[in-house]
Amino acid sequence: MNAAPPLEKDVVPDPTPPENGLSFVEEIHNLLHASVGNPISSCIQCGTCAATCPVASGGFMEHTPRRIIALIRAGFKEQVLKANTFWYCASCYQCTVRCPRGIDIAELMYGLKRYTVWKTQYQKGLIGPVFSETFVKMILRTGRSYEPILATTYIFTFGLPEMIQEAQNGTALMLKGRLPLLPPRIKRLENFKRMIRRIIPLGDSE
Ligand code: SF4
Ligand code: SF4
Repeated sequence: MNAAPPLEKDVVPDPTPPENGLSFVEEIHNLLHASVGNPISSCIQCGTCAATCPVASGGFMEHTPRRIIALIRAGFKEQVLKANTFWYCASCYQCTVRCPRGIDIAELMYGLKRYTVWKTQYQKGLIGPVFSETFVKMILRTGRSYEPILATTYIFTFGLPEMIQEAQNGTALMLKGRLPLLPPRIKRLENFKRMIRRIIPLGDSE
């Protein structure tokens, strides 16, 4: 068993007292209440998830899944929320399948995405949070996903070459009748919106 990873000098615990009486560790624990396993207390820091993760192994994550759990346990809230780790997670579930403690690490990644969007505390410049916000707004307005709007978010982030490629793809799909010209709307949209508002803390996102 490996020891917990050392923390960098610039990583300092968040001194802000919890706004709702819960510590960061408790908030993340509650966030994952419905999932199997508790990554906060049952992780043994063996590093299997980090070694298994294709994204972490490729050097794309600022902190490996193992390290994210160590940071949560140590209360480094700001460093966790600003990490790109969960936004770069490809949801391949290899970590979840191989964890010797049966921890659903992929679900932890989803949970951290939800948490950072809810708190509007995420690393600027990442496509994931913008994409998620656009998707939720679109679903609230029409009840359906409409790819051209989602693609626009991606295109404005990644620039002209992607824009040309996506425009060509979109045109080809429309000509084949695979993509509608206008966003479709579901029936009884107001009922759907009421249901969504009960599930997601939307704030002023619409
Ligand atoms: S594989 Fe499981 S027990 Fe090992 S470090 Fe990752 S989460 Fe912790
Ligand atoms: S689910 Fe995410 S964190 Fe786990 S191995 Fe796959 S990419 Fe890595």
